[in-house]
Amino acid sequence: MTKVLSVFGNMLELDESPLRTAGGGQPADNGILKTKKGYFDIKEVVKKDGKVYHVVDGASLEAGDEVEVALDEDRRKKLTRMHTGEHILFQSLKRQCPDIELDKINLDEKESSLFVVADDLSWEKIFTAESLANDTIKAGIAVTEQKISKDDAKALSDLRIKADRIKDDSVRVIDIDGFDKSACSGTHCDNTSEVGIVYISRFNSLGKNRYEVRFVVDDKEMFNHARLARETMSFLNSEPGRFVSQISKMKDDLDEMKKRLRELSKDSIRVLSEEKVGDILLLYGTFEFVDKKQLIDRAALAVKENEKSIAALVNLTEKQLILAVSEDSGLDASAILDILMPKIGGKGGGKKNFAMCGFTEGNAIIHDLKEILIKFK
Ligand SMILES: [Zn+2]
Repeated sequence: MTKVLSVFGNMLELDESPLRTAGGGQPADNGILKTKKGYFDIKEVVKKDGKVYHVVDGASLEAGDEVEVALDEDRRKKLTRMHTGEHILFQSLKRQCPDIELDKINLDEKESSLFVVADDLSWEKIFTAESLANDTIKAGIAVTEQKISKDDAKALSDLRIKADRIKDDSVRVIDIDGFDKSACSGTHCDNTSEVGIVYISRFNSLGKNRYEVRFVVDDKEMFNHARLARETMSFLNSEPGRFVSQISKMKDDLDEMKKRLRELSKDSIRVLSEEKVGDILLLYGTFEFVDKKQLIDRAALAVKENEKSIAALVNLTEKQLILAVSEDSGLDASAILDILMPKIGGKGGGKKNFAMCGFTEGNAIIHDLKEILIKFK
C-alpha cells in the first residue's frame, strides 16, 4: 500500500512505487493502479519539476487516498533484456566500425532500433557484429553497475558516455566485464546469457552515413524470416549460395525488359483512332508502358496537325488521362476535364488548351468524353 501525495490533472504523485520513468533510451514502465474504486492502467510515468508522476486516466483520486501499484513485470523483463542486448550490439558494431556514433535509441519490448552515424556500414559488417554479439551473450559475461563521480567517468578512456547529457554529479556505469562500459540509467540483466539472442531484423540506410539497425531479442522473428527465405528460394527453385545473385539478376532483367517495352511502345502511339463528334474531330487511344512525356508530345502534335480537334490519350499503366484541344476548336480542355473527373475517379487539372488527370476508373473514359462533347455543342 502507498498513498497519493498530490494530483495534477490525470497525473498522480505517489509516496512509493516500483515503476521507473524513461531513461537511457528505455521507455517508462507500465503497471496497474489498484484503488478502492477499481483497477486502472498506468501507461506512463513522467518526471515534472523534480517530482515523479504516474499517468492514470479516470481514477478520480485525491491526495491522501490509499492505493497499490503493481508493476508489469513481464514488460520490464523484456525491456531489460532488450536494453542489455542493445549495449552488446552497439559495442559489437563499434568493433566493426570504430568511428560509429550512436545518435538515438528507440527501445521497445518487441523490436528496437539503433540510429547510428557511420562511414560505411554494410550487411557484411552487420552480420559480423551480430555474430560477435551472440558469442558475447553465450559466453555468460557478468553485467555489473557502479556509481562513480563525473570526473572519474571522464578519465575512463573506454567508457561510452555523453557527459553533456548527464545532469547529476555522479554517473551510473554499466560494465559488461571486459567487453563494454557505458554510462546508462536504464535496467540491465545481471549476466549477458539472460539476453538469449540478438537478431538484426532490418537494416535501413537513412541518407548519407545514417543508418537504422533494428533488432529483436527473441528468435520468433528469426524463424519468420528464415521461413520467408526458404519459401522464396523454393519458389525460385534456388538455394542459399545463389539466392541473392539470382534475385539481383531478375531485377536487372526486369529493368531491361521495361526499357525495351518502352522503346517498342513508341511506335504504338503513332496511330490514333479518329471519330467525328459534331464538327469536332476526336483523336484517341489507350496505351500501356509509354512514357508520360511521349504521350504529352503525341497529344500536342495530334491537335496541331488536325483542325477543330481534341486528343484524348489514356495511359493505362500510370492511370493517367491527357487531353489537348486545338485553338480553333472553341473547346476548353480544363473545363471538359472538370466534368469528366467525377465520372472516372479523377484528380488533376490544367489550362484551356491542355489538361491531365490521374484516374481510378478507366473503362469508359472515351465513351464519357464523347457524351460531354455532344452536350457541349
Ligand atoms: Zn543501458
